[in-house]
Order: sequence, then C-alpha cells, then structure tokens
Amino acid sequence: MAKEMREPIESGCPDPWQYMHPVMRKNFGQWKYHEHPRPGVLRHVAYSGDEIWTVKAGTQRILDVFTLRKLCDIGDQFADGYVHFTLRSNIEYMVTEESRVAPLIQALEDAGFIVGGTQNSVTMISHTQGWLHCDIPGTDASGVVKSMMDELIDEFRNATMPNRVHITTSCCQINCGGQGDIAINVQHTKPPKINHDLVANVCERPSVVARCPVAAIRPAMVNGKPSLEVDERKCICCGACYPPCPPMQINDAEHSKLAIWVGGNHSNARGKPTFQKLVAAGIPNNPPRWPEATAIVKRILKAYKEGARDWERINEWIERIGWPRFFEEVELPFTKYHIDTWRGARASFNSSSYIRF
Ligand code: SF4
Ligand code: SF4
Repeated sequence: MAKEMREPIESGCPDPWQYMHPVMRKNFGQWKYHEHPRPGVLRHVAYSGDEIWTVKAGTQRILDVFTLRKLCDIGDQFADGYVHFTLRSNIEYMVTEESRVAPLIQALEDAGFIVGGTQNSVTMISHTQGWLHCDIPGTDASGVVKSMMDELIDEFRNATMPNRVHITTSCCQINCGGQGDIAINVQHTKPPKINHDLVANVCERPSVVARCPVAAIRPAMVNGKPSLEVDERKCICCGACYPPCPPMQINDAEHSKLAIWVGGNHSNARGKPTFQKLVAAGIPNNPPRWPEATAIVKRILKAYKEGARDWERINEWIERIGWPRFFEEVELPFTKYHIDTWRGARASFNSSSYIRF
C-alpha cells in the first residue's frame, strides 16, 4: 500500500483507504479522464491505462441489516467485494472490465435497487435522519425523501435534466441539510410553548438565553420557580432554544410546516456561490406521503426541464429568465413574504457574548 493509513480517532469515519478498490488505490490522484457511458455508470481511465467502471444505485438510506447483507452479497459476487456509500445514500460498486457491468446492473435490478443518479439526473435527495437519532427534529426527513423519490424515480434512473439537480431536505430549521438546487426545509410558524414546571429541572437557563439569535428569551420567575419567558414580538420561530431546553416545545403537528427554497449552489468554474431563495412557505407537513410538497417540487422540475438551456443549473436558469417569470412558470404566488426585509438584526442580533437579564 503506497499511502500510510490515518490513525484511528475517537470520532468520525475510519480511514477510507483500507476499503478502497485496489485499482483506485493504485491510481489515486492519477486519473486522466472519465466519461458517462449510460445513466448510473461512470468509466474512469487512469494515466497508467487502468480503467474502472462505477455502477451507482439508490438506497433507502435507513438500511436494515438484511438489505445491507444483500448489497454486500452483490458486491462479493459481482464487484470484487468492495462497496462505497456516497453522501447521498447511494451505493457504488467498481469493476475493472466492461463485461462485468451488465451482470452487476442486472443483479441490482433483480434485487429491487434502481441504478442511476449520475450526470444530469435528479440525484438522490440528501437528508439527515434526525427523527431517529437527533434531539430537535421537526419532521421525519427520511419519509419526505422516500415519498418524493418514489415519484421522481424516472428522473433518477435517466439523465434527461438540463444539468444535475441536487435536492436536499432537513428535519429541523437550523442545522444540517437544507441547501441545494431545491431544498425542502421545516418551517416553524409559532413561538415555543414553555412548560414552566420542567424548565428549572431540565434547562441551564443562561445557555438557553444565549442561544436565541434575536435575544427574545429572558429569565423569569413563574409560579415561584425559576423559568424563562419569550418576547413573541421578537421571536423568529427558529427552534434554536429547543435543543438546550426541551420544555420550550416548538414542534407542532399543525403549525410546523414545510418551506421550499431554490437556487443554492456552490461556486464552480463558471460562477460564485449562490444562496437559495424562498419560493413556497406554509406547505403542510403531511405524512406519510407529503403530497403537497411533492407536487410543488415536481412543478419546479417540470418547468426547469422544459425551459432551461443545456447545462444550466436551476439558479442559472432562474437568473436568466428572472424571478417574476419563474413564479409564473411554476404557478406559485409571489407574496410580500418572499421579500427579505427583516431588519431586526440591527437592533437585536445576538452577536455579543454577554448574557442579557
Ligand atoms: S437537520 Fe436538525 S434535527 Fe435533523 S439531524 Fe440535523 S440537527 Fe438534527
Ligand atoms: S431561539 Fe428561536 S424559537 Fe427560541 S425564542 Fe429565540 S427566536 Fe424564538
């Protein structure tokens, strides 16, 4: 092995070097070019003359042990015993001869997996799964992903979009996930409701006060016990106080909604990074199939597919046609709430380390 393995650390994933296909290890950093022979398959050619075919398939992300075994068995039988999971929960297998690609795809499809997600397709929706492991989710993001990808399966399987489309979801309003060409994010619409009996026993009040980005939380005595109060005129319903203080309950079956944002993109060779912008808010957070949010995402994708030029990303397409026309094309209302006029930060932004009492 040409490269030394990184020492194990207390947290984080192990050194991937040991799990890499030997042909990838051998040609690390020495790839000459790659091409896209068909949706779901990439062919990389190294300066050494070595070639490797990558076959990508979608998974449901939350994988039970039986599915994992099935995927590993396919890897053992058809792909030299190596697998690779991508950030977007796809599984990739590498083979070194073209003749092994078709049997591998056949085995994956026979087992019910969808091969695709490459080049100008709709990629697997990236998401966190806080519903299972985190302390602050407002919705089950994995369920939203499953419902939407069931409807977008042909866009994953084929590569017929003008350019690649990254869709993301997040299960709370403030942390991971939630940036992409299209992002489906939780949106709380009312201030937290405080269970005063529990605050004194559960919450470190200074931590909670310091957590609020708009300084809307103050310590208070309620029924003779130390508790907190929220200035609802300032509260922007972000939910940041809920993780350090679960008695500040903000999740709500009726008032926690979904919002859809578009146009977020990293910088690339052609342009600067772009921030996503709100296009639809107050969408019902409606399990188990989230039909309202899915319908809007499908409308945006249809308009983009029909209207964008080749290789235009969603943000580039919107910038070219203009936001008014974008709202017309996707048949969504443009309201005063889409205009970012919030000035609260000038007076109240929690930018100092002082705790306010
Ligand atoms: S998006 Fe929020 S709730 Fe979901 S895992 Fe990340 S921090 Fe937790
Ligand atoms: S942290 Fe967010 S939700 Fe909590 S009081 Fe402050 S603005 Fe409102």
